[in-house]
Amino acid sequence: MRAAVFYGSGEPLRLEDVPVPEVGPGELLLKVSACGLCHSDLHYLDHGVPTFHKPPLILGHEAAGVVAKVGSGVTNLAEGDPALMPALLWCGACRYCWSGRHNICVHSRMPGNDVDGAFAEYVKAPADQCFKLPPEIPLVEGCVIADALTTPYHAVVDRARVQPGEIVLVVGCGGVGINAVQIAAAMGAHVIGVDLSDERLEWARTCGAASTINARTDPDYPRTIRKLTDGGVDVAIEAIGNQAAQLQAFGSVRTGGRLILLGYSDKDLALNASRIMYRELMVIGTLGCPPDGYRRVIDMVREGRLRLLVTGQYPLGDINAGLDALRRGEGLRSVVIP
Ligand SMILES: [Zn+2]
Ligand SMILES: [Zn+2]
Repeated sequence: MRAAVFYGSGEPLRLEDVPVPEVGPGELLLKVSACGLCHSDLHYLDHGVPTFHKPPLILGHEAAGVVAKVGSGVTNLAEGDPALMPALLWCGACRYCWSGRHNICVHSRMPGNDVDGAFAEYVKAPADQCFKLPPEIPLVEGCVIADALTTPYHAVVDRARVQPGEIVLVVGCGGVGINAVQIAAAMGAHVIGVDLSDERLEWARTCGAASTINARTDPDYPRTIRKLTDGGVDVAIEAIGNQAAQLQAFGSVRTGGRLILLGYSDKDLALNASRIMYRELMVIGTLGCPPDGYRRVIDMVREGRLRLLVTGQYPLGDINAGLDALRRGEGLRSVVIP
């Protein structure tokens, strides 16, 4: 089968012919309909963030497709079923899995990081961790549920616990942040979107943001927000993973509010401790999404309460062009079609 293989930071992905994965007991083989291009892939390719499995490795962790084969003992899915592979595979037997927090499983494995992923014609996965997709959800767009939609859902609903009527600031309205905007709006929040791109801010308004601010024209926007909201927002979600943006999000939170760190960064972050203490602020991390959240998101998409925002499609042979477009910040979410 054709696959886009990672050989190390600083090199483009190489298109190669590799063997189709063998499925064992409890596993399934997914014929990939589409796999999303994510900033995590750029972190491996450009920033030397090590994948835990040594290259060569097939990247891609946001996949939907059709079940092509099932191993022995598989009962939840059958050949021909449309299915979604989660972006993180869990062990099911650690204290976090036992408490429903599979997304922080201590033995988790990530496709396209610890095991071969889905920038390929086929990918294999544990069948009981894959989700059957209803016929109303198209597979090419539906793949973004695996990460771009479930990750911000967990951030907004489970971690920030956004309530109707609250004011929610989303800093960074790209592939993940834009979905934090539409999910917070769907929860009944008043959403303010911040970005450097007018095009992405336009998208944010289309997705339910009540107002938007371009941080390029208003670099001191936390002050503007505190003034407009009588002291600050209830929840600020930083969806980029940039220190300056994290500090601006922190500076926008009202007394008693919550700062949610959704964007990935390996840098330290210095926050004023007295501000956190005196104002009873909460600083909350968020990672991926547990299986129950996937189920809820799939339902919301099926019912038309959440949109699948895919703005570009690339054949597998053009995957490096798709990654270049992501580097340039074009569009919201692109997918690769093997
Ligand atoms: Zn991702
Ligand atoms: Zn576990």
